[in-house]
Amino acid sequence: MHDDNVLGDNIGSIALIDSMGGDLSVVNDAKASLAQMVCEIGGKEVKLINYLVENKHFSPLRGTVLKFSVKAPLFICRQWWKHHLASCHSEEQDGWNEQSGRYTSFKPEFYIPKVWYEQSKMNKQGSATAFAAECCRGFRITLMNQTERAFQAYEELLNADVSRESARMILPVNIYTSWVWTVSLQAALNFVELRNEIHAQGEIQRYAAFVESACYQVAPLVTKAYMNRTHV
Ligand SMILES: Cc1cc2nc3c(=O)[nH]c(=O)nc-3n(C[C@H](O)[C@H](O)[C@H](O)COP(=O)(O)OP(=O)(O)OC[C@H]3O[C@@H](n4cnc5c(N)ncnc54)[C@H](O)[C@@H]3O)c2cc1C
Repeated sequence: MHDDNVLGDNIGSIALIDSMGGDLSVVNDAKASLAQMVCEIGGKEVKLINYLVENKHFSPLRGTVLKFSVKAPLFICRQWWKHHLASCHSEEQDGWNEQSGRYTSFKPEFYIPKVWYEQSKMNKQGSATAFAAECCRGFRITLMNQTERAFQAYEELLNADVSRESARMILPVNIYTSWVWTVSLQAALNFVELRNEIHAQGEIQRYAAFVESACYQVAPLVTKAYMNRTHV
């Protein structure tokens, strides 16, 4: 499954490119404690899944793994990177592999939103209502001009034989980058819980909504139990 237009500009994208496990493997990882296995899921297994999730017995969720290919603006990538599980470079199972601005030159692909929002007065980190279309057009042009200037300067530095790793300093945070994220079902659900949520920035919410759909595809019963749990 994939969404090639997750931010509405035909550049931002996310795809589920691979997965391992699912509801049955979560059940069987839990049943390892009894040295038992089942071949299919019935009523007892559904009860077990609900019990595991409700009581935070999460380790069986770590044997199911999802792999995503993501293309997002750098400022979203940076928020995503705070999800240390599967992202932290000090972790043994670092599942984050990103395009390098040292090996490759960046393409002029920038996120230029159509709708701009006022700063919220209630929530320091959030937005309030959208500006009128005319204002939005003006803000869009400001960002486009600034972005073009920055990219021109980047190319000038590269043409002057400045190294890619130094030249990239001039690029703005709305430039697109891409990475592969390999993550356990537990960490993916934690990401969904925190980022497909109204306090998170609108752009990352859209990626998180896709991650939630992918979790439903790979492990529908576990995902449903996690989303409906009462004991958070
Ligand atoms: C709306 C919003 C606003 C935010 N604003 C900011 C901000 O202004 N500045 C900022 O720096 N960050 C900010 N964050 C990031 C936030 O603080 C978390 O770092 C991020 O959401 C990752 O969450 P996590 O730690 O649960 O995920 P992961 O790092 O993937 O961890 C998953 C889970 O593993 C466990 N875990 C992870 N590491 C440890 C550990 N060392 N010890 C014990 N248990 C651990 C915890 O149970 C954790 O929930 C914001 C996040 C949101 C959703």
